[in-house]
Amino acid sequence: SWPSSSGPSTKFELEKETELRLEVEGSAPVQVELISGLAEAFGTELTKNKKYTFPPGSRGAVFTWHGCTVQLWGSPDVAYVSKDTPMLLYLNSHVGLEQMRAQAEREGERGPRVLVAGPSDVGKSTLCRLLLNYAVRRGRRPTLVELDVGQGSVSVPGTVAALCVERPADVEEGFSAQAPLVYHFGSTTPGTNIKLYNKLTSRLAYVFNHRCEANRRASVSGCLINTCGWVKGSGYQALIHAASAFEVDVVIVLDQERLYNDLRRDLPHFVHTLLLPKSGGASERSKECRREARDLRVREYFYGPRRSLYPHAFEVKFSEVKVYKVGAPSIPDSCLPLGMSQEDNQLKLVPVTPGRDMAHHLLSVVPIDSSSTDEGLEEKNVAGFIVITGVDTERQTLTVLSPAPRPLPRCVLLIMDIRFMDLK
Ligand code: ATP
Repeated sequence: SWPSSSGPSTKFELEKETELRLEVEGSAPVQVELISGLAEAFGTELTKNKKYTFPPGSRGAVFTWHGCTVQLWGSPDVAYVSKDTPMLLYLNSHVGLEQMRAQAEREGERGPRVLVAGPSDVGKSTLCRLLLNYAVRRGRRPTLVELDVGQGSVSVPGTVAALCVERPADVEEGFSAQAPLVYHFGSTTPGTNIKLYNKLTSRLAYVFNHRCEANRRASVSGCLINTCGWVKGSGYQALIHAASAFEVDVVIVLDQERLYNDLRRDLPHFVHTLLLPKSGGASERSKECRREARDLRVREYFYGPRRSLYPHAFEVKFSEVKVYKVGAPSIPDSCLPLGMSQEDNQLKLVPVTPGRDMAHHLLSVVPIDSSSTDEGLEEKNVAGFIVITGVDTERQTLTVLSPAPRPLPRCVLLIMDIRFMDLK
């Protein structure tokens, strides 16, 4: 665990409806403790006299509806109190959604399905977290649908996923992801394979619908769909696709009026579309910062939060694995086999021969049984991930980092564009 912060300590008296915003860079974590009053972090209530750690590279906010005193240890790069937050508007959205849930409950209907859209770094993930937290604190069991393949909060980057939220997010670790439903996408932007992206979105909607049929509480609670910050061209089309696949009732657009107007124009009239301001605390992250955040998610997958897990390293023979990449590189239309379109190509499973260039790549482990064919593999859910840490072409072996001990289950491996350096 992180050492107790030994840096200077500052006390903040927060008036009602204000928040303390933090940005931690450098190498030392900072800690925050609620001394008196009530406060929350993105919708999770803080426990009094408990120290919460914000590691380097993180941002956070402590908001209070009623006023509180917090103590801060350490030297964050940024720490200030803001009186200008959109929290009241966000709370109103929650109240609106809760009314829809209550009505769904009374009338035997399904609850609100909400899509959150907007450009990068406007706080989409944070708003989803807040609204999910408020819902679960009211006894609901909403589903988080994570379509952000770059900065997702459920699994590693390069995936889409769904998670049934049963308790508020942990302030430090986010939502507990014990049994998420995860699909392999393979890269950090939907643009690399939009056909696959849309197919996986449809797949998630299909599975969610099934769950809603079987589970009344999940159906009434509805879902929050977090999307990518790519909102132009195919990115915009992917939003429309997601809205229709999930048959959303509400679309929340953060910060961008143009996107709001476009969606209002292009979505059916019964979809409530609303525009909300972004929080001043949601500030832009550099490319480097995003890359680090992605790296951290992969590291956490293998080593656990605060290095609480011990992954396994072992060798597998080239001959023991079956590796595919989803999607063949695009070729000129004139060269395509008769009857095949460019789009079919995007879903094609291309066998990859193990070799040196596989080193450091992240691979999804897709379990199969003896009767499985390779057909539709890209739509099967992922059991876990491994990283190739070494390739020995002479001995024809790969060294892998895996959360589970040897051997690999009976599976097919889907390779990602994403690489991870296991620097321990
Ligand atoms: P992306 O498009 O990259 O997924 P996003 O729109 O989902 O971004 P978030 O990840 O929610 O944006 O927020 C961007 C960053 O700003 C995060 O590090 C988040 O913790 C931080 N942040 C959001 N709201 C606040 C706030 N009120 N105070 C301080 N930091 C905040």
